[in-house]
Amino acid sequence: ASKEIQAAKDAHELLRKFYHHLLVNTKEGQHALEYLLERGFTKESIDKFQIGYSLNSWDFVVKFLAKRDFSPEWMEKAGLIIKREKDGTFFDRFRDRIMFPIFDRHGQTIAFSGRSLGADEPKYLNSPETAIFNKSKILYNFHLAKPIIKKLQHAVLFEGFADCIAADRAGVENGIATMGTSLTDEHIAILRQNVHSITICYDSDNAGIEAAFRAGNLLDDAGFQVKVAIMPDGFDPDEYIKTFGPEKFRKDVIDASYTWMGFKFLYFRRGKNLQNEGDRLSYIEQIIKEISKLTKAVEKDHYLRQLATEFSLSLDSLKQQEKQIYFTEK
Ligand code: ATP
Ligand code: MN
Ligand code: MN
Ligand code: MN
Repeated sequence: ASKEIQAAKDAHELLRKFYHHLLVNTKEGQHALEYLLERGFTKESIDKFQIGYSLNSWDFVVKFLAKRDFSPEWMEKAGLIIKREKDGTFFDRFRDRIMFPIFDRHGQTIAFSGRSLGADEPKYLNSPETAIFNKSKILYNFHLAKPIIKKLQHAVLFEGFADCIAADRAGVENGIATMGTSLTDEHIAILRQNVHSITICYDSDNAGIEAAFRAGNLLDDAGFQVKVAIMPDGFDPDEYIKTFGPEKFRKDVIDASYTWMGFKFLYFRRGKNLQNEGDRLSYIEQIIKEISKLTKAVEKDHYLRQLATEFSLSLDSLKQQEKQIYFTEK
């Protein structure tokens, strides 16, 4: 099996180089390169992240690998080609897509994610789970970001590759992203070995905010210091950087991120009309419940005061209710 694994890794390395060559040096890749540059990707980040292009062909990879004596059966198991049921012949999995190589923590290419150029679905096509690729364990960009994460003792978690790459261009080099899945216990275990403080910077649309709430709870439970960065009007980090520039992203988004509790103050407000008495009371109760989970007395005091001020309530009554909730929830 170890021969097969080596072959899978070798094939990924070869294809990574070839896809990159096709993107940057060939006429066939020109429209893909133009698409990326138009989106704000730079030549430097295309090189750094080894972005490539897969030809609009059904058998380019099949032939490319066969010519180099890779077993088609193994290459199918490696996720690079697919077998036709009817006649047992093979075809390329990735066709006419922008290719993002996925690296393991040693910088070895173990999978690809291919983005369609137009509106073709699916937008991102990932390698399947294979002997060398398990997406619940992989954090995109971890191999490059790890030394910086360790030095800064801080990581920024993104939703997509494009966000991670745009942030890197904007000087945020401690960014990582999951592979289109939610954060898993395996991811958290990897992070715990390297860092204690994490800023979640997901898309500021509904799905992103819900996902940030879920990821934040997991990270908070696991003992991380959690912050959440928010952008206006449904922007994602990549679009934000393209629209407002790197400095504004660092200053107004990353550096201005909310504390975990601060984010929850905003999160529970969503969909409520605080002018409405019922909504207001249920919001206050929800927030007190969150405050009661805090372990530091000073923090509790701080947030109860914030609540008292905003809703013109007496601090005493809030404290009393906090104690009640604290003891009933225990
Ligand atoms: P882009 O800027 O290229 O449109 P994005 O990162 O903003 O990409 P989102 O729609 O916000 O795309 O999705 C976030 C992440 O979820 C993607 O980076 C990708 O990893 C994953 N994803 C999105 N669509 C799909 C899909 N159809 N299949 C698998 N994964 C997907
Ligand atoms: Mn999204
Ligand atoms: Mn997005
Ligand atoms: Mn995007």
